[in-house]
Amino acid sequence: MSEFCSVHTHSTMCDGKSTLEEMARAAYEAGAVSFGASGHSHTPIPEDEGDVLPRDMTAYRAEVLRLREEFTGRMDVLLGVELDNCADVTAEGFDYWIGSAHRLRGPGGALYTVDWTEELLAACLEEAFQGDGCALAERYYAEVRRMAAMRPTILGHIDLVTKFNETGRFFDEEAPRYRAAALEALHAADPGETLLEINTGAMSRGYRRTPYPALFLLREWRDMGGRIILTADAHSADAVVYGYAQAAELARAAGYTRSTLLTRSGRREAEL
Ligand SMILES: [Zn+2]
Ligand SMILES: [Zn+2]
Repeated sequence: MSEFCSVHTHSTMCDGKSTLEEMARAAYEAGAVSFGASGHSHTPIPEDEGDVLPRDMTAYRAEVLRLREEFTGRMDVLLGVELDNCADVTAEGFDYWIGSAHRLRGPGGALYTVDWTEELLAACLEEAFQGDGCALAERYYAEVRRMAAMRPTILGHIDLVTKFNETGRFFDEEAPRYRAAALEALHAADPGETLLEINTGAMSRGYRRTPYPALFLLREWRDMGGRIILTADAHSADAVVYGYAQAAELARAAGYTRSTLLTRSGRREAEL
């Protein structure tokens, strides 16, 4: 890989294990062209408190901008945020934003987090969908579709709902109903504006053996003329560029030869 960046990162300011400074230093030492902080946005959900940035992001912004100064001339530092589908803040004034659905809304209106634990997803499947996994996935992709239509800089882990589904426990990822829901969400994204991420975050934390997203989604995105970005969704300094070789391999399997880098002077394409 010629050049790479790491712009999907979390720190102790949200639910990460390393400080922003440790994350930036690790990205620099790994040889990244740019590092982007993308803390989880605030939501009105009380249980999120402590795992997301405060509603007032002044301290977060100040720390990222301090690091920008510290690394001037060596590595670009970008100010980003990962906006959740339940966020009660906007990305106004940020260099970029990642649009990510982490929750779905059940038919009764209750919210369920899809990536927290396998038990929680199993409870959602029984309580809200009477065991109909495709119905669960359809509700999840309705949220992704809404985020995609907001034209984020990066569409985050589009098929996060598959996190605990490597064994096919929750739904059949080959089922036409499942695929139609995922593709409908993808089709809501603007390939001229939004980058689709190949995200290795669940691999570094031992939940999955392959990056997001599934190959059929990447191939469709390529047919739509869309571009991709490699991200680690890193929650600790040792994971800032985790699994990029495998992510690049997946990209090549979908026909890509380049990925996009976010830098302070805009977007740039790099050979995979
Ligand atoms: Zn996320
Ligand atoms: Zn993330």
